Amino acid sequence: MSVQQTIHVGGAWRAAASGATREIIDPADATVLTVVAEGGAEDTDAAVAAARSAFDDGEWPRTPVAERAALLRRVADLLQRDREELGLLESRDAGKTLEEGRVDVDCVTDAFRYFADLVMNESGGRVVDAGSEEIHSVVVHEPVGVCALITPWNYPLLQASWKIAPALAAGNTFVVKPSEITPLTTVALVRLLAEAGLPAGVANIVTGAGDPVGARLADHPDVDLISFTGGLTSGTKVMRAAADSVKKVALELGGKNPNVVFADACETDEGFDTAVDQALNAAFIHSGQVCSAGSRLIVEESLRERFVAELARRAERIRLGRGTADGVECGPLVSRQQLAKTEEYVASALSEGAVLRAGGRRPEGEAQEGFFYRPTVLDQCHREMRVVREEVFGPVLTVETFRTEDEAVALANDTEYGLAGAVWTTDAGRARRVAGRLRHGTVWINDFHPYLPQAEWGGFGKSGIGRELGPAGLAEYRESKHIYQNLAPRPVRWFAG
Ligand code: NAD
Repeated sequence: MSVQQTIHVGGAWRAAASGATREIIDPADATVLTVVAEGGAEDTDAAVAAARSAFDDGEWPRTPVAERAALLRRVADLLQRDREELGLLESRDAGKTLEEGRVDVDCVTDAFRYFADLVMNESGGRVVDAGSEEIHSVVVHEPVGVCALITPWNYPLLQASWKIAPALAAGNTFVVKPSEITPLTTVALVRLLAEAGLPAGVANIVTGAGDPVGARLADHPDVDLISFTGGLTSGTKVMRAAADSVKKVALELGGKNPNVVFADACETDEGFDTAVDQALNAAFIHSGQVCSAGSRLIVEESLRERFVAELARRAERIRLGRGTADGVECGPLVSRQQLAKTEEYVASALSEGAVLRAGGRRPEGEAQEGFFYRPTVLDQCHREMRVVREEVFGPVLTVETFRTEDEAVALANDTEYGLAGAVWTTDAGRARRVAGRLRHGTVWINDFHPYLPQAEWGGFGKSGIGRELGPAGLAEYRESKHIYQNLAPRPVRWFAG
């Protein structure tokens, strides 16, 4: 199998300096999908040098905002032109269904268009009243500089784009390091940026492992900002590594997201069906490999048996298979390691007293060669169990119960994370009260999972630092500079001599 040249430095595609390569595995059948370059510290240094020189000496940071926005819109058009191809590539690389792959491309397109519009609307400086006609005072925005962008494997194209679009809109240059497990669509995106006319050196990519490539980016003295999406363990390492050079650090980490269902939401058949259906969607879409997965069902005690029975019945019917096959609703886990981790969490939960209501096993039959695991419902869970506290990142839903509103809120907030959560109720007052008390970056009322490019995304607690999307998602990539101009300078005579 020929090796793809997946390292892009200063406008040229190349293999790793060491000649190292990595096989990219199809998670649906464990075969080799393709072989890519396995970059190292030398490639990373070269990419940072290219981004540094494009920032310090190149035209991009000084390109008028309207031209930068126009480039982002061209990228959006190219993404739509290649929608089918990119959706398929994402489906094969990350194991998601083809439809999910297509939806990801649409979301990414929206993000590029959103940041194009936003930067046009927010390009002007802010005049500050200094209290004198002789003073002209203005706050302007400037790009931060060289950005290192590190992304995970669950939404490879989406996570990269939530960083790349605002970074470019603000006039930065960057080095992106996609997950070593799923680099293919990020490589394709960097090709589209060049096709859209981005000058050489502005966008660089190094495919390779977290250590050395990510670790080198985190402590590199010529990197000004690091934006990282991934797990808590790697995120804390990145933050430590970034400290010596005092980089700006943005972290989008994991979640252990509560889905709180009050009995009143299920008083009608329609309400019951909706809440159960959305609980399945919350927990099992993309086999639960979603940072905001609703992996903790917190249901009112009086509703528990009916709700869990129906949830388990429907979970058992979810159709697993290769993401491109007709009728498939869930693909495999992304890797053998992720499958083993999921199996280990379920075993530990059962040994701690959880009751298995659905799944808890690999599927029989044709889906066996791949990294498949049946959607799993674990009843009778409690807050001391590892499976309730730690992020599984697999198709595993735990069930806890409450009797009062206060108890529901306490359970929902009893996590070191704080990324997202939902509340299901027909009582408008209760909905607002509970939403107000949840310590999570996104709260859905009677829904799960939707996000808007206009609204900030990010976490409280150990779910991260900073926000992506929305105006704050652009602000992350900008420095504010206060320019104070004295129009009538004269001595101040503080010192008499
Ligand atoms: P991970 O932390 O293992 O890897 C993420 C990225 O970091 C990869 O590119 C990896 O190579 C790199 N990396 C690993 N060690 C590094 C180091 N020492 N220095 C620098 N980079 C390093 O995470 P993952 O398993 O790829 O992704 C799953 C995690 O991502 C989950 O915890 C999930 O919740 C999180 N996630 C969060 C969001 C969000 O928006 N908050 C979105 C998607 C995924």
